[in-house]
Amino acid sequence: MKTYELMTLPYAPDALEPVISKETIALHHGKHLQTYVNNLNALLPESGLEELALVEIVQKATGGLANNAGQVLNHELYFGQFRTKRENNIPEGELMEAIGETFGSFAKFKEEFQKAGATLFGSGWVWLSAREDGSLVITQEPNAQNPVQHGLRPLLTFDVWEHAYYLNYQNRRPDHLSALWDIIDWEVVEARYLHN
Ligand code: MN
Repeated sequence: MKTYELMTLPYAPDALEPVISKETIALHHGKHLQTYVNNLNALLPESGLEELALVEIVQKATGGLANNAGQVLNHELYFGQFRTKRENNIPEGELMEAIGETFGSFAKFKEEFQKAGATLFGSGWVWLSAREDGSLVITQEPNAQNPVQHGLRPLLTFDVWEHAYYLNYQNRRPDHLSALWDIIDWEVVEARYLHN
């Protein structure tokens, strides 16, 4: 049976400063995600889902296994989509075209996504996903849920659990979300759109 391991970050722990501090990375990636990985490894044996890929486990599991497998998948997508801060950080190519077709403009998409993150009550995730026809959709998912559970292909996500921002932003979730746009690695997001 496969044993899950904590994902290696594709950047240094301080590379996302000041948007995500190295202290938040240490806690969020090093402690919270590690706990979800440990719980997944503890719950998977004898679940009957041991041989499945992580996405399939998330689609089929229930209860604690669904929560922990979901959080592992969600965080791997989340931590895998960032790079060092840059100005005028916007997508290009086919992803940008699809955003324009679905939302009218990048500015409108950003506004809608931001609003979905700010208004999600409690803990959860806001997602940009692709439908089978290539069109895009924004969804709010509570707790550990992931769009793959509704047949969507996840491309981009903001974690709105307090553990994602509380150390540096306290109650100012919208401020944290608006800062995240500067560190999105749009090449990763576009690759998810084109190749997955
Ligand atoms: Mn998190």
